[in-house]
Amino acid sequence: MNILLCNDDGVFAPGLKILAETLQSFATVTVVAPDRNCSAASHSLTVENPLRMRQLDNGFYSVNGTPADCVHLAFASLFSEQSPDLVVSGINAGANLGDDVLYSGTVAVAIEARNLGYSAFAVSLVGDEAYYITAAQVMKQLLSTLPPEWLQAKQLWNINVPGIPLQDLEGFAVSRLGRRHPSEPIVPQTDPRGRLIYWIGPPGPSVDAGVGTDFYAISENKVSITPLQTDLTDRDRLASLHALF
Ligand code: MN
Repeated sequence: MNILLCNDDGVFAPGLKILAETLQSFATVTVVAPDRNCSAASHSLTVENPLRMRQLDNGFYSVNGTPADCVHLAFASLFSEQSPDLVVSGINAGANLGDDVLYSGTVAVAIEARNLGYSAFAVSLVGDEAYYITAAQVMKQLLSTLPPEWLQAKQLWNINVPGIPLQDLEGFAVSRLGRRHPSEPIVPQTDPRGRLIYWIGPPGPSVDAGVGTDFYAISENKVSITPLQTDLTDRDRLASLHALF
């Protein structure tokens, strides 16, 4: 199996390294990642500046661009002969639950890969960062147990793993996205020259976290699996709008 591995936390992120090492036990893994933390970059592409790809001593490719740039560039420049079988993004440091997926660079990697015709997994660790290895083992298990046709379909998977020891997981839950409240308030401060600066607040608490949601799965110590699609059309609203216009 050939896997393209990307992330949004940057090429030096611990989650990327652990996932690469784990997937390498059964697959050929090509790692392409931003040269810095690009969390919350969503699906942005760099179009006003040139991109450079540099291979590091550990074999990973570092790109001075966004998570989606990395996918785009990898397919254009590294896979002229043999395309990867699928794309994996992560392990992200932190949840990608509910509305998070709209801001997430981790999920954007998977969407970009899906747009290019590949099956793609976004995997995120929720909670204690001592347990990246749990998420890595979960991905290894998923990729080696899913039927091959599921790995070949242009499917977009959003996986969230609780940050707990592997043996404490309560299995898998197939989930829909929940919802969050708007993010926490902006934090204003002054810089060393006395000028006002702002920090965007962290994600808000969950507002729709009931049974069946990804938030609920995590609260039950289960691995949340959410199949995603990218058509944002409000289908329930179509009929009433047709009547108006
Ligand atoms: Mn991130």
